[in-house]
Amino acid sequence: MTKKQSTAVKKKPASTKNTKASQRSKKIQDIKKNLMKQKKALLVGAIEALNELPGQTVFPDLGDQATAEIDRNFMLRLKGREQKLLKKIEEAMDRIDQGVFGICDKCGLEIDIRRLEARPVTTMCIECKTLQEEEEKLMEK
Ligand SMILES: [Zn+2]
Repeated sequence: MTKKQSTAVKKKPASTKNTKASQRSKKIQDIKKNLMKQKKALLVGAIEALNELPGQTVFPDLGDQATAEIDRNFMLRLKGREQKLLKKIEEAMDRIDQGVFGICDKCGLEIDIRRLEARPVTTMCIECKTLQEEEEKLMEK
């Protein structure tokens, strides 16, 4: 009797570990959805700004397919700041697809999920980022 009970209890830790890992990947999928939304909003905003200019091509349909088709050429016409942000968003989405999202560029450790949720385009953990900022400050002096 006692033997059976202990076997049942032993199985638990493994499944708890799996749940934690899948929670992280679920959150990363949510982050990906947000990145896609952010990317679309960025493109739509830029297209609207262009449409207000005379002599520009008008994109009447802003469905997902249309956005996907135009964004490549469109990148060239975006302003520097928007272009940089869009590039960062695309890089983050690539990292999600490749399964390397949320790994620090510098130390190779997992970046805190809360940090990723707040700033999905980040490529460094908070420790490395702080260290880099301190180094940059020293360089300025
Ligand atoms: Zn790091």
